[in-house]
Amino acid sequence: MKVRLGLDIGGTTVHGIVVDAESHHVIGEQITHPTRHGADGVVTGAVEMISALRTALPSDHDVIAVGLGVPGIVHDGAVTHAVNLGLDHVPLDLAGRVADRADGVLVTVENDVKTAALGGLAWLQEQGSTVDDLALLNVGTGLAAAFLLDGKLRHGSRGMAGEIGHLVHDPDGPICPCGRRGCLELFASGSGLRRQWDGTAAELFAAAAAGSSDAAGIRDQLTAGIAKAISLLAYGLDVSYVLVTGGVVSATPALRQAILDDLRTDEGTSLGKLAAIADRVRWLPSDYPAGALGAALLGRDPAWRS
Ligand SMILES: [Zn+2]
Repeated sequence: MKVRLGLDIGGTTVHGIVVDAESHHVIGEQITHPTRHGADGVVTGAVEMISALRTALPSDHDVIAVGLGVPGIVHDGAVTHAVNLGLDHVPLDLAGRVADRADGVLVTVENDVKTAALGGLAWLQEQGSTVDDLALLNVGTGLAAAFLLDGKLRHGSRGMAGEIGHLVHDPDGPICPCGRRGCLELFASGSGLRRQWDGTAAELFAAAAAGSSDAAGIRDQLTAGIAKAISLLAYGLDVSYVLVTGGVVSATPALRQAILDDLRTDEGTSLGKLAAIADRVRWLPSDYPAGALGAALLGRDPAWRS
């Protein structure tokens, strides 16, 4: 049996998965390792995960490709700006260095939100969907999106397609670590929430419901910021679905409902009714391994643009 390996290399853990190259179904046990940081650490960590996945496979399974998803900008196969992995602006030829130490198997590297979009399409198809276009919005520590358009991953001319977190949302807002003022990510992300609120999103919503005006203000900014990001993706590319993922959203049903309510207010106009953006939103289950699965599917036929 021919199989593909997918690695989702996050800031704290590396998640490894094996996929049947024909059916694209996940097979065997999924493995999680702690992340090694720095260029050498990331390469070694990936090689060790590949070795662990291979060791667990029956002898008649042949690994034909390995995909790596990383939280950074990937351009011409080189990784930069992966701050959570201890990589900076110096390009790292991650695919090449891993391939050299993994018996020369074909290795492809891509931004992790983009691999999650590939995994998200697989999830939609499991739900019976036949569409081949979507945007995935990741409301994690940061805020970023990815696009699959007509079945192809949109990488972008500089690998930056979907990097919407640093659009200026409030010109009078606080200074962002990126140097701008009032970036969308400062309001609509896990780090944005932590910046303003000492507790979970569920506790924020409870405090707001109990009458705290401070909590209500933060809640409304969080909700409106995520709704704005969804609208940006839906209006910008008119995709069939906007899949939303990330810990803050996954853990808080009240936030999900508030986002939908916010989007429904847009339907008071004929244009908003036609757009029907709330109807396009799908919440990707938090336990679905979209990042690793999508990484495993990198480079398959038909070729994804990358
Ligand atoms: Zn910023």
